[in-house]
Amino acid sequence: MDILAHGVWAIILIKFIKDQFKIKAKLWQAFFFGIFPDIIAFTFLTIWSFFNFGLIHPEKHGAEMIGTLGPTLSTISEVLYSFSHSLVVIGIIILVIFIVLKKIPIVLLAWPLHILLDIPTHTSAFYPTPFLWPVSEITFSGIQWSNPLFMKINYAMMIFAICFLYRNDLIKCFKNINKK
Ligand SMILES: [Zn+2]
Repeated sequence: MDILAHGVWAIILIKFIKDQFKIKAKLWQAFFFGIFPDIIAFTFLTIWSFFNFGLIHPEKHGAEMIGTLGPTLSTISEVLYSFSHSLVVIGIIILVIFIVLKKIPIVLLAWPLHILLDIPTHTSAFYPTPFLWPVSEITFSGIQWSNPLFMKINYAMMIFAICFLYRNDLIKCFKNINKK
């Protein structure tokens, strides 16, 4: 899924949990952890490609650039992607945090959400999600997130979900406008 959508879905999930269970959570942190797996995976590659190719459309990272990376760089980039897109890795991170802090910061759930959203929205041709790495290399070939129809449906669902979560504020705002 695209990075903005990851951030917005993270806000939607954490806002929902926050409202349902009356838990304190900062939504900017939810956004941050929602995009964090891609930051880990692509910051290095983006900086490297910027200095070598200038600004390139992210999709070209897949075919053209990976081939020119050379074995060391492509291994680093693959490992970073696998690390940040593994439910096993984030499961261990959450477990360690729970043991140390005796609680799980709710915003951290945006990270596994990112992985769950990436599993069906990447094809085997473009960064399939190695969600069980390093235990298994298994991936799932879903639909490509940049598919125009999928993008439209996805953004429509996000707008709907945001309107639903903020419905009381929207109603208040609407009433205030009508009063004036
Ligand atoms: Zn991702």
